[in-house]
Amino acid sequence: GRPTVAPPSTVSAMSAQFTRTPHPAPVPADRRAEIVADPGFGRYFTDHMVTIRWTSGSGWHDPAVVPYGPLTFDPATMVLHYGQEIFEGLKAYRQPDGSIASFRPDANAARFRASAARMAMAELPDELFLASLSELVGADREWVPPAGGEESLYLRPFMIATEVGLGVRPSAEYLYAVIASPAGPYFSGGVKPVDVWLSTDYTRSALGGTGTAKCGGNYAASLLPQAQGAEHGCAQVAYLDAEERTWIDEMGSNNLFFVYGSGDDAEVVTPSLTGSILAGVTRDSLLVLAKELGCQVTERRVSGQEWLEGAADGRITEVFGCGTAAVITPIGGVKHNEGAVEIGGGQPGPITLKLRELLTDIQRGTAPDTHSWMRTL
Ligand code: PMP
Repeated sequence: GRPTVAPPSTVSAMSAQFTRTPHPAPVPADRRAEIVADPGFGRYFTDHMVTIRWTSGSGWHDPAVVPYGPLTFDPATMVLHYGQEIFEGLKAYRQPDGSIASFRPDANAARFRASAARMAMAELPDELFLASLSELVGADREWVPPAGGEESLYLRPFMIATEVGLGVRPSAEYLYAVIASPAGPYFSGGVKPVDVWLSTDYTRSALGGTGTAKCGGNYAASLLPQAQGAEHGCAQVAYLDAEERTWIDEMGSNNLFFVYGSGDDAEVVTPSLTGSILAGVTRDSLLVLAKELGCQVTERRVSGQEWLEGAADGRITEVFGCGTAAVITPIGGVKHNEGAVEIGGGQPGPITLKLRELLTDIQRGTAPDTHSWMRTL
């Protein structure tokens, strides 16, 4: 059966009991300042990491803030063989008053539990997930870039199967960890549209598969199609559904939005959550913001054919990808085995840019958080 988690009372007591390393080994302050000023993405890591263990029979235990550093594993550790691994990605933003807040971390906590359930792993209670983020950011506050720009501290919670053995079955032990990495603005020279490769050779996920889970294997499987897209000058790959090879699912690490028409008549369309795509937190938030902007908002199936024809005849005026890393990435063209179509003259459209501004203003704390999406860490 499904692994059990510690009862809520134990969890609640535990979240106040993270041990903090008595032997920190911080990066020197001047080097840290240099990194935070120009961090790129995922290249540098903060001084600490959080670890929490789960063991069958005793549940979650030993929450700790320890120095960032290597983990060592027996060669027969299960995750190394069968890929029982999940992760999350979210950001902490410095607010104008100096505090640090993250965007809808409760949604990432819930998705992390859902991913765990799909991979037959122990489910981390949301309260511990949220406490782990606060503990890490509390220890590494100096690593959160200043307010005012698009810089942030990217948080990467993940969990791996740590039992030793080669039997193919759910592990009886897990390691949950959180690491953090300062992230620069995704578009340093202004928001630029990218081209997307519409893959007809590969699919990302079938109904009943793991597409709705954020497990490492999905990303390993995306690397070959991603390389194929790159050969055609494309920054990302869009996938069709695995059953009919007809309907747009999403991209390798972004959900997709299509804008029909413009101005007061604009309709914003995104593929519905049919069981093969990842339910993006950005996607969900943009559905709310687009409605408030006065757009008609529709979740439905969109075929690859409709995308190509709509972009060619001008019915589709804007297309963009969305996700935590880049927030919104405008798509200037779509390429495939039989040709290429430009979208909206290859320029980022007004609704794309407006939605991006609305969302980043909330995240940076420069617009009112009317939906209570921000959570102080
Ligand atoms: N789809 C996939 C496959 C992803 O990896 C991501 C990034 N987590 C997204 C969509 C966007 O999700 P979010 O908005 O929660 O970052």
